[in-house]
Amino acid sequence: MTFDIIRKAAAPAQDPQSAAPPDWDALIEGLPQGRINIAHEALDRHLAAGHGAQTALRWLSKDTGQHDITYAALAGMSSRLANVLCAHGLVPGDRVFGLLGRQPALYATALGTLKAGMIFTPLFSAFGPEPILTRMQIADCTALVTTAAIYTRKIAPLRDQVPGLKLVLVTDDDAPEGCVALGPALEAASAEFTTFPADPETPALIHFTSGTTGRPKGAVHVHGAVRYHAFSGRHALGLEPGTVYWCTADPGWVTGTSYGIIAPLVNRAVTIVDEAEFDLERWYQTIASQKVAVWYSAPTAIRMMMRAGEDAARGHDFSSLRFLASVGEPLNPEAVVWSHKVFGKPFHDNWWQTETGGIMIANTAAMDIKPGSMGKPLPGIVAGIVETADGTVTELGTGQIGELALRPGWPSMMRAYLHEEARYAKAFRDGWYLSGDLAMRDEDGYYWFVGRADDLIKSSGHLIGPFEVESALIEHDAVAEAAVIGLPDDTAGEVVKAFVTLNPGFDPSEALERDIRGHARKRLGAAVAPRAVVFRNTLPKTRSGKIMRRLLKARELGLPEGDISTLETDET
Ligand code: ATP
Ligand code: MG
Repeated sequence: MTFDIIRKAAAPAQDPQSAAPPDWDALIEGLPQGRINIAHEALDRHLAAGHGAQTALRWLSKDTGQHDITYAALAGMSSRLANVLCAHGLVPGDRVFGLLGRQPALYATALGTLKAGMIFTPLFSAFGPEPILTRMQIADCTALVTTAAIYTRKIAPLRDQVPGLKLVLVTDDDAPEGCVALGPALEAASAEFTTFPADPETPALIHFTSGTTGRPKGAVHVHGAVRYHAFSGRHALGLEPGTVYWCTADPGWVTGTSYGIIAPLVNRAVTIVDEAEFDLERWYQTIASQKVAVWYSAPTAIRMMMRAGEDAARGHDFSSLRFLASVGEPLNPEAVVWSHKVFGKPFHDNWWQTETGGIMIANTAAMDIKPGSMGKPLPGIVAGIVETADGTVTELGTGQIGELALRPGWPSMMRAYLHEEARYAKAFRDGWYLSGDLAMRDEDGYYWFVGRADDLIKSSGHLIGPFEVESALIEHDAVAEAAVIGLPDDTAGEVVKAFVTLNPGFDPSEALERDIRGHARKRLGAAVAPRAVVFRNTLPKTRSGKIMRRLLKARELGLPEGDISTLETDET
């Protein structure tokens, strides 16, 4: 099956690679004397410009329904939080962890921490004690904001292993021993706080990578990154003052901060904050009733929507949507076409990493969409497809598969992997940042994801990207999700093995296995199609929704599982 290009009405030709880099500074206000602070851009400057009464967050609480929080109210909460941190002896540069669900306290914690010149680190609140502890130790955590339940279950037993931890704030009024109740502390604190005038290079955020390919890395980001959050929020996500915007990313992941907190606030959008976990009917209803203009989600969520079928979406008015956007994993062309049919608007896939801090390659409102492509580099981002040999990096031409690389220089690039200088240095060579992903650029300048460098399969002289095979598999009516790996083979070098989950109404059987393999053979040819298809109830995924192919492979080969601290689902 081939997928038609989705043509945008009056899409202007866009050739970002040859465009001059944008004036990043022109998008933000900055503080006097070249100083900068993410919280100033997100809050203070809107108040100064008279927009304090505009809604910043529309919180959809699980228990108490809708609450609108203005920019002025959020700024007040954040200043109070900053005052509480300082009152407990914390100083600029200290590390404040947020272990919270989607709620206003999360926003106040992130922004109050930044306001005070301290470093914010979010974690998945569903993490177990061990991954929390290691990350707190790596970043030498000084303060933590969480719930009483999480503290009691996961932190209290291990607290003495984080000697630097001075303050634990809990969102419940009934604080466990050794903790301070956040609500009363905020109430008692002043709502005035002078935002810390940071240098653009002052560390602001530490984000841990998803751990899809191995041990997670702590990527350090600086206050100057906000220039890129502002720019990319506008350019790739169309965020403008008043835009009703909803990002479903878990707050524990970089997307939850860059595009769940910073970019929408800096661009003065109205951010929907839905406390509830994935619930299809609630999601459709929320998009329709809140008149969401831009919805930012991930391929796993989209595939769940597809699995539930078109009927579930019927009867909702999606006319407010300008487009939908997706990040985190390759977005199968099937999903783009499906969303175009169901929502009347396509999904804009975009590519970036914890390390890049912001969206690098995207389909934007100004572009025709080629389903299955990640789109084009944003203006100011210079990307290349490269091959590395003996320390030299050579750019490859159109249509060739190689490693996706970027020319460093945009404001939100990581400045370090925490305590891992060698690992950081290895990511840069010959003036390029090497992403570890494989991709291809076509004659129109669109980039196509092939797979992780580690996941590439070499079979009988063919280079096989898992994404292509997985996309072909999910075109089969029975297949909901797919993961493929390469296994050693005496004659072919490697052969492809697939793991799939099924759509409702289909049951595992030998006949179905044969049928799926037959379909893949027809689509991909015998050399590339999987030799075996295994049925699973779920695929192993990280908490940010990424399929852990390395885990499937390690198990097949009887090798150690490696770091699985971020593993979320896993059922055979
Ligand atoms: P780790 O680096 O710890 O192994 P990770 O790379 O999954 O984990 P993240 O930084 O959260 O951690 O994810 C970035 C990666 O996600 C990219 O390198 C890429 O492999 C994948 N990714 C993100 N967006 C896309 C996309 N639109 N298409 C394909 N892959 C994507
Ligand atoms: Mg990575």
